[in-house]
Amino acid sequence: MSQNPEIDAPETEVVSQYRIACDGGDGALGHPRVWLQIPQDLGWVECGYCDKRYIHADHEQEVLRKGGAERT
Ligand SMILES: [Zn+2]
Repeated sequence: MSQNPEIDAPETEVVSQYRIACDGGDGALGHPRVWLQIPQDLGWVECGYCDKRYIHADHEQEVLRKGGAERT
């Protein structure tokens, strides 16, 4: 995986499913596996454990154009 300079987020992964599992990967960020559901109207979801952001491929351009996820 390479870094994408267009994405201003700690870690972002483009996925092809709306339901994905995150366990934080290897190393210090590892955490119990959780299932994340990407809201279809939003197109992305953020893992509450490791802050990793998952963007659905169908929404990638849309999300990036909006400047990514606006934190509320
Ligand atoms: Zn995670």
